[in-house]
Amino acid sequence: MKLAELGEFGLIDRIKANVAASPSVLLGIGDDAAALSPTPGQVTLITSDMLLEGVHFDLSFCDPFTLGRKSLSVNLSDVAAMGARPRHFLLGVALPKDVPLEFMDGFMAGMLEQAGRYGATLVGGDTCASKGGVAISVTALGEQRPELVLKRSGARPGDVVCVTGTVGDAAAGLKQLFGGVREGFLVRRQLDPTPRVEAGVALAEAGLVTAMIDVSDGVLQDLGHICEMSGVGARLELARLPLSDAYRAECGADPYPLALSGGEDYELLFCIPAGREPDVAALCASVGLPVSVIGEIKAGTGIELVAPDGSSYTPPRRGFDHFGAD
Ligand code: ADP
Ligand code: MG
Repeated sequence: MKLAELGEFGLIDRIKANVAASPSVLLGIGDDAAALSPTPGQVTLITSDMLLEGVHFDLSFCDPFTLGRKSLSVNLSDVAAMGARPRHFLLGVALPKDVPLEFMDGFMAGMLEQAGRYGATLVGGDTCASKGGVAISVTALGEQRPELVLKRSGARPGDVVCVTGTVGDAAAGLKQLFGGVREGFLVRRQLDPTPRVEAGVALAEAGLVTAMIDVSDGVLQDLGHICEMSGVGARLELARLPLSDAYRAECGADPYPLALSGGEDYELLFCIPAGREPDVAALCASVGLPVSVIGEIKAGTGIELVAPDGSSYTPPRRGFDHFGAD
C-alpha cells in the first residue's frame, strides 16, 4: 500500500496506535496541541534536529527502521548533552506521496523502539507531502533539576577535557558506505549511533562536570564551541584521542584528520576540574562506557593541537559546517 491510499489522517492514526500511554502526557496525539505535566522541581530542555534525504541520509544506505532510530537518537543525544533525561518528543515528517507504507511502518517501529528504551513518549507532530525527498524533524523534550543542567559555558582554565567512547568512527563509516561497504562496526556507528543518555544524566547528577556538549560536528569543532562559550582556550593531545580498532584498521595511516573533524559520533565531550578523573572513570564504568582524558582547558582562546611527537599539529579541516566549503 502507498501512503497516498492511507491518507494523512490514516497515517497519523496508524502512528498513534503504536504509542504507549505515559502518566506525564495529559493529551497526546490527536488534539491541536499536546498537554504535558512537568515533573515538580525540574525544568524542560527542548531541542530540535532535522534529517533530510540527500543531506543527512541516503535511503540506499540505510533501512527505514534504522533511520527511525537514528532520527530520534540524534535528538536524545542533545538532551543527554545537557545532562537531562528524555521525556517527550514531536515528529514532523514530509513524505513523497509514492512512499510505500512499509517505509513509514519500519521508520516508526525503529523510532518507537528507541523511544521506549530511553523513556521518551511521542506526543505529536506534523505530517505533510513532500515534492522532493523525505524530510524528518524531531523535537525532543527532556527534564532535569535546574541546578544540574550542564551548559557549554562553564569550562575553566585548568579543567581536564574528557570524551566518552571512541571518535572518528561514524565519519570512517560514512567513508566506507561511499566505498560500497554496507556493514560492520564503523558503518553501524554511522547509521545507528547510541545516544549517551545514561552517562549524560549520571554526569549531571554527580555534579562533576563544568561544561558539556555532544560530538555531532567533530571533536575539534565541538570543543571549539565549549571554548567560545566559556571564554577559554584548550590544548588537545592527539595521542590521547580514543580510537577504535576498526577505526585504526580503516584510517590508521593518517588517523587524526577524521578523528578531529569527523562528525556524528554522538559521544559526550566534557570538562571536569583537574583531579576528578578517577570519579569520572568510575562513573562512566558504572554505565559501561569508556572515557578518556584528551586535553586541558587553558586561559586565552583557540585550541592548540599537540602531535604524538610533541610538535604542534595543524588539521586539514576543522569540522562540519552546513554552509561551509565542501
Ligand atoms: P493541526 O492541523 O491542528 O495542526 P494535524 O492534523 O496536523 O493538526 O495533527 C493532528 C494531530 O496529530 C495532532 O495532535 C498532531 O500533533 C498529531 N500528528 C500529526 N503528525 C504527526 C506525526 N508525524 N507524528 C505524531 N503525531 C502527529
Ligand atoms: Mg489545529
